[in-house]
Amino acid sequence: MQSFLPPHRTLMGPGPSDVSDRILQAMARPTIGHLDPEFQRMMEEIKTGLKALFQTENRLTFPVSAPGSAGMETCFHNLVEEGDTVLVVRNGVFGDRMRENVVRAGGTAVLVDAEWGTAPDLALIEAALKANAEISIVAFVHAETSTGVLADAAGICALAQKHDCLTIMDAVTSLGGVPVLVDEWAVDAVYSGSQKCLSCTPGLSPVSFSEKALDRVRARKTPVRSWFLDLTLVMNYWDGEGGRSYHHTAPVNALYGFHEALVMIFEEGLDASLERHAKTHTALAAGLQSMGLSFLVDADVRLPQLNTVVVPEGVDEASIRSHLLSAYDLEIGAGLGPLAGKVWRIGLMGSSAKMANVELCLTALADAFNRNQYKADGKAAVAAAQAAFAA
Ligand SMILES: *Cc1c(COP(=O)(O)O)cnc(C)c1O
Repeated sequence: MQSFLPPHRTLMGPGPSDVSDRILQAMARPTIGHLDPEFQRMMEEIKTGLKALFQTENRLTFPVSAPGSAGMETCFHNLVEEGDTVLVVRNGVFGDRMRENVVRAGGTAVLVDAEWGTAPDLALIEAALKANAEISIVAFVHAETSTGVLADAAGICALAQKHDCLTIMDAVTSLGGVPVLVDEWAVDAVYSGSQKCLSCTPGLSPVSFSEKALDRVRARKTPVRSWFLDLTLVMNYWDGEGGRSYHHTAPVNALYGFHEALVMIFEEGLDASLERHAKTHTALAAGLQSMGLSFLVDADVRLPQLNTVVVPEGVDEASIRSHLLSAYDLEIGAGLGPLAGKVWRIGLMGSSAKMANVELCLTALADAFNRNQYKADGKAAVAAAQAAFAA
């Protein structure tokens, strides 16, 4: 075997996003024991930073030592047990994974579907809650990465409360890219990921739980089926009163990187970072539109950090992506499920949300289009993007 030297890519897909040298250097610092007092001090800072990011006072706020999918399982496997009925809002891949989680945790899922590319319909959610009094949890994806749609989290949570339900929210792609107001909306369980708008390496999943959620976990009739994700056990490690006890070995160096990612977000300022995502999105959209491209999602529910662009008639979408990767070291995402072959997913997440990336992407796309018998003016697209950014 020989050392693996990855190519330098610009990451503008659905995640991971670009990771800055500063974070990579933080991860290269000396490994210390995960029960070392200095490590525990850093863990406390991570928890404090995450509370600010989630805009919550929830005591139990910490990163699960595994990717976003594990944060999802932590929420579902702790809150759902046999006999529970969960309303799952499904308008893309990740809503369907929620359904799968409910079933595997022993519960029953009541689905409220929305067409891919559209936002969940509050009236349908309310009707389902009225028709199924046994529902005790409402689960939804805040930012559907498979389609680029933003859900009305405040509206869904208000309906859930009106019907005495807890809420589980997927904030993997939303956290750090659009406002996530856990306490204001009264979300009971939320999970995110390190590699999307937080621009860290993949493999950590920040989660946060309300007291109501923890009461429900404490009142379970059966133990959580997963030992690793059982909050009652993990709590002693991440939230131990009077000292921590061993649960699992924390990914020490990954957490150095995550700590640095949080430092960087608060250096810039959370509001400034959200504003940067919004502005680079506006710029990218102007550039794409100048090349005659259109979005799958209506402007009022579009995610700035995940742009779903319709593949023009006659253009081979896979050949465009492979040209971008081979000629420009630029990664954009393909469509999933029913959208495969029909859209590209262009991410502007975290460090990737900057004008240099927007300009590179527009230039590279125009070049690829012109090789595909689709006439596009890259210089004009970049100029349109710059004008929109300055406006
Ligand atoms: C990426 C993503 C996940 C899964 O996160 P992993 O880190 O890939 O496990 C879950 N939900 C949404 C909305 C995502 O975008």
